[in-house]
Amino acid sequence: MTRALLKGSLLLLPGAVLLALAYLFLARAAIMPPAIVGLADYAPYALAAIGAAIGWRFNHSNAVIAFLLIVIGHGALTELPAQSAGRAVDPGTVRAALAIFLPLNLLYLSWLKDRGVVTAQGRLRLAVILIQLAGLAFVMWQAPRELAGLLATKLIPAMLPRFAGMPDIGTIAFLVALAAFFVRLLLRLTPRDAGYFGATVAVVLAFGGGRLGGAVMFAAASAILAVAVIQESYRSAFVDELTALPARRALQALLMRLGDRYAIAMVDIDHFKKFNDTYGHDVGDHVLRFVGAMLEGVGGGGKPFRYGGEEFTVVFPGRTVSEVLPHLEALRRSIAGRPFRLRARDKSRIKRWSAGIGRKVAVTVSAGVAERAGDQTPDDVIKEADRALYRAKAKGRNQVSI
Ligand code: GH3
Ligand code: MG
Ligand code: MG
Repeated sequence: MTRALLKGSLLLLPGAVLLALAYLFLARAAIMPPAIVGLADYAPYALAAIGAAIGWRFNHSNAVIAFLLIVIGHGALTELPAQSAGRAVDPGTVRAALAIFLPLNLLYLSWLKDRGVVTAQGRLRLAVILIQLAGLAFVMWQAPRELAGLLATKLIPAMLPRFAGMPDIGTIAFLVALAAFFVRLLLRLTPRDAGYFGATVAVVLAFGGGRLGGAVMFAAASAILAVAVIQESYRSAFVDELTALPARRALQALLMRLGDRYAIAMVDIDHFKKFNDTYGHDVGDHVLRFVGAMLEGVGGGGKPFRYGGEEFTVVFPGRTVSEVLPHLEALRRSIAGRPFRLRARDKSRIKRWSAGIGRKVAVTVSAGVAERAGDQTPDDVIKEADRALYRAKAKGRNQVSI
């Protein structure tokens, strides 16, 4: 729990820093040269363009749309009051419409798995957004009086606090989005979720600012999301998506930094193919996640990685084989001793192994361990650990071998 809290706070840190910088800029704006302050007008567009380019490059199409929405939001919220002077459109109505549109759609995009642009889901997403944009355009050009009244409805008792410059209905939309983001963040703790959360907070703060405050906060929203896209791209290269353990590339990076003394263990799930064949690939994935979580608890300073498939590597910097053996033995025993319960997640699988639901099955692992000797490279040590692993398998599995 404390670990989750710490990780969550770390994930929210970039957003917090960027928001603090935005506030600092606004606080100093009065004493800065107007030419520099004037640049703030362009900042939301520039940062969103940079963010969208990065998002495009790394196939985060949801983020590309989010940047577009931020730009549209900024344009409509801050440019509109200047332009609507001679027209009948009520800026308050537009604000209320935007206050619902922006947080809920950022939530929608953060919730949606990124399946690209050409898939059925990608097309549905585009349709959902475009229909709303058409509605928004309608509101901006000729808001019916009834709608204006509806959106301005007082929903929050007068004594409760509300967000500055935000209609009640927008406050509620934001609170709903905020609560959902929070739950999601606690469940997943990814930079992506933290980024959408921070960007939404910045968008809401934009409603409280005037022209300058709005521009700076929309710029902050884009910057927060752009940082999240970069973090997420890094994560997808260095963190294994299935088990959330560091992946092969992270292992390679650690191997290059190791000193003269270290031990490496190769851990392999026993009869994993049989698991896949009997219960299906999804249950196999479940077992991988289960073993990955158990590996995270390994003692002796061991750093676990997913090497590939159903094989894991544990690196013990600064340790010898005799020092790490008890920890590997404890790990092996705790995996074997904790029954893995078959769970049903969807109907197709229930059909397939309905007899097995709720049944506990034993998952065991075998491990081989080796330490650096002479002038061995980390790859040599891994090969030796691999040979030890085969000995463990040959001796009957569910054991640690040297
Ligand atoms: P042993 O005890 O000798 O290790 O037997 P085993 O069946 O575990 O070993 P084998 O190497 O024959 O089988 C590994 C299987 O792991 C084959 C492959 O289908 C499966 N596998 C590899 N990666 C994944 C994955 O990401 N998800 C799932 N569900 N299965 C995977
Ligand atoms: Mg294997
Ligand atoms: Mg295996």
